[in-house]
Amino acid sequence: MNIELKDKTYVWHPFTQMQEWEENPQLVIAAGDGIRLIDTAGKSYYDGVSSLWLNVHGHRKAEIDAAIIRQLGKIAHTTLLGLASEPAAELAEQLIQIVPEGLTKVFYSDSGSTAVEIAVKMAYQYWQLKGVTQKQKFVTLANAYHGDTVGSVSVGGIDLFHRIFGPLLFETIHAPSPCCYYCTLSVQAGGCQSACIGAVEDILARQHGEIAAMVVEPLVQGAAGMLTQPPGYLRRIRELTRQYNVLLIVDEVATGFGRTGKMFACEHENVTPDIMTMAKGITAGYLPLAATVATNEIYQAFLGDRASERTFFHGHSYTGNALACAAALANLEIFKEEQIIAGLADKIAAAKTKLAGFAELTAVADIRQCGLMIGIELQADKLARTPFPPELLIGHRVSMLAREYGLIIRPLGDVVVFMPPLASTKADIEEMLDIIYRCIQEIAG
Ligand code: PMP
Repeated sequence: MNIELKDKTYVWHPFTQMQEWEENPQLVIAAGDGIRLIDTAGKSYYDGVSSLWLNVHGHRKAEIDAAIIRQLGKIAHTTLLGLASEPAAELAEQLIQIVPEGLTKVFYSDSGSTAVEIAVKMAYQYWQLKGVTQKQKFVTLANAYHGDTVGSVSVGGIDLFHRIFGPLLFETIHAPSPCCYYCTLSVQAGGCQSACIGAVEDILARQHGEIAAMVVEPLVQGAAGMLTQPPGYLRRIRELTRQYNVLLIVDEVATGFGRTGKMFACEHENVTPDIMTMAKGITAGYLPLAATVATNEIYQAFLGDRASERTFFHGHSYTGNALACAAALANLEIFKEEQIIAGLADKIAAAKTKLAGFAELTAVADIRQCGLMIGIELQADKLARTPFPPELLIGHRVSMLAREYGLIIRPLGDVVVFMPPLASTKADIEEMLDIIYRCIQEIAG
C-alpha cells in the first residue's frame, strides 16, 4: 500500500470533508527544507501558510534541531505535576521577559485550544476565589475563533464550525466584530463613530457585575477571514475592561512570535492583558506547546492551603514537555541572534507594495494585512459585495492551482490566506504573491 492509500484508509483529517478527500488525489509531504515543503515525488513548494500559521524560521533549522537532540540526550518528557523541569523553568523565565510587562506566571499546555480553555477556567475560578461569585459570563467577538475544545468553542463564534455543538456550549455575550470592511454599525451611524467600541461599552456598563472576562484575538481575527481591527480598538477595550472590573484575555495564539511585526500584537497597542495565551510560533512550529500567562494579581488569588479550593485543578499529561520547551528556547535564541523582529518591517512593506497591485483584479474585494498575516477576499461582484456561490469553491480552487505553481496555501472560504514563515526573504514573499496573483486571475478574474 503506498502512503496516499494508507492515509486514505486509516487517517481522519482535521477540518476536512473526508468523502471528498478519499475521492481526490492527495499530496503527501515527505520532508521540509527552509521555507519549502517537499512531496514524495521530490517536488518542492513554498510553505505559504507556515504549516498552518506556526512555522517561523523554516523547517530543519539547524539550531532548533540541535537543541531538541541535546534535550533528547537528557530526557524527552517528565510531568510538571509535583516535579519541576529544567527547560520548562528556563523557558518560563524567558517568556516573562518578552511578554507585556505585568504578566508574571506561565501555565503550560500543548495547543492553542487548551491555552484558551485554561484562560477561561482561570478567569472563572479567579472571581469565584475572590468571592465575586456572580461573575460567570464571558464577552466574545462575533466570528471569534479560539480553538476546538468545548470551552474554547464556547468563546468562539464561527457558525460553520460551531453551530452543531450549540447545545454543548456555555452561553457568551457577543460583541460585534470590529472589522471595518464588515461594519454594519457605522453604515447606520453615517460614518465611523467607533460604534463597535460603543457596543462593548454598553455590554460592560449593563452587565459587568456578571462578566468574568472579555476574550479577544488582538489586531486581527484570523480564522474569521483575517478580519483586521482599527488601530486603538484593543487599547480602548483594555481601558473599558479595567474601568468595569472585567478581566481581559488576549489570545495571541496566531498573532504571537512576530507574526504582526512585533513579538506580540499587544505591543502595538501598549496593552497588558490580565491573561494572555500563546501557542503556534512558540516552538517555531516544531513541537506542540502552549502557554497561558497571567498577572501576579490572578496568581495570588490561587494561593492557599492544600485542602482549600484555591488549587487550579487543570493539567495535561504532556504539559510543559521538555523537548518542546527546548525547541522554544532555541526559537527565542534565534529571535535574538538573528534580530528577526527588526528584519520584519521590510518584508511586511514588500508584501504591502505587492498587494496594492491586487486591487486591479476584478474578484479582489478587500485586502487585509496585519504584518505577515494576510487575507485577500474574493467576491463575484465587489461593488455590490456579492460573494461567489459557495459551490464554486473559488478559494479552494485558487489554492489548488497555487500548488501547480509550487506554493501551498489554504484558504478560509473565499479569503485567500497568505502567512509565510518569518524567515521568507523579501524576494520569496514577492514570488509567492506573484503566484497568488496569477492564480486569482486565472480562477476568478
Ligand atoms: N486561538 C487562535 C486565535 C487561533 O488562531 C487558533 C488556531 N488557529 C487557536 C486558538 C487554536 O489553536 P490550536 O489549533 O493549536 O488548538
